[in-house]
Amino acid sequence: MQVTIVGWSGSFPGPDSPASCYLIDTGDFRMVLDLGNGAVGALQNYSGLADVDAICLSHLHSDHCIDMLGYSVFQNYHPDGPRPKIPVYGPAGTQDRLARALGTEHLGIADAFDVTTLAPGTIEIGPLRLTMAHMNHPVETFGFRIEHAGKALAYSADTGPTDELVRLAACADVLLSEASFVDGPDLPPDLHLTARQAAEHAARAGVGELVLTHLVAWNDLRVSLAQASEAFGGSLRLARSGLRLFAPADS
Ligand SMILES: [Zn+2]
Ligand SMILES: [Zn+2]
Repeated sequence: MQVTIVGWSGSFPGPDSPASCYLIDTGDFRMVLDLGNGAVGALQNYSGLADVDAICLSHLHSDHCIDMLGYSVFQNYHPDGPRPKIPVYGPAGTQDRLARALGTEHLGIADAFDVTTLAPGTIEIGPLRLTMAHMNHPVETFGFRIEHAGKALAYSADTGPTDELVRLAACADVLLSEASFVDGPDLPPDLHLTARQAAEHAARAGVGELVLTHLVAWNDLRVSLAQASEAFGGSLRLARSGLRLFAPADS
């Protein structure tokens, strides 16, 4: 299993990255995890759009799902003819929300994608084993533990502090955690993590490596990294476009 950071910018695209998007590739199966603003463009640096086997959406905030609209155009209007539907997994209401955003009654979301509603628990998608849990965010949001060939990746999606993330990430090789906030007074509750809180969750879960993502363009990334390093003694990195987690030799 190889994981490529396609987009790591939190809440809206930044100058150096689209919004959230990660590509999970086992060699014969490719799953896209979230598809935020601008991600369908950057994704093509790492995978043909016709080569994606499944898409998983953590929640329906636009910075995690809105490029599904552009992807539907690729699917429905390709000059070689309509593409086979791609299986999509998302929270309740995914198909209706995307269809309303697309705003067309002909060749829409239902023609491009086969949408399944996610629930907490464990499912198999291709060769991947996915465990989902509800995160602490204002809309229904799933965090994920993705396992393949003895390796485990945990992904926080968007969340405030929650024990559910610690459980999902228990002893994972890598925790890919949002770090939208830097330390400060009067941060909104139940919305996002500071980099320090992400690190505290990583430490409690005993993960091998923490990768900070969903980094917001108005923050200083050096401050986020420094604050996280005070709470987690393991391997710690900032997400960046094209960064690959899990070397091919590990898959
Ligand atoms: Zn977000
Ligand atoms: Zn969100």
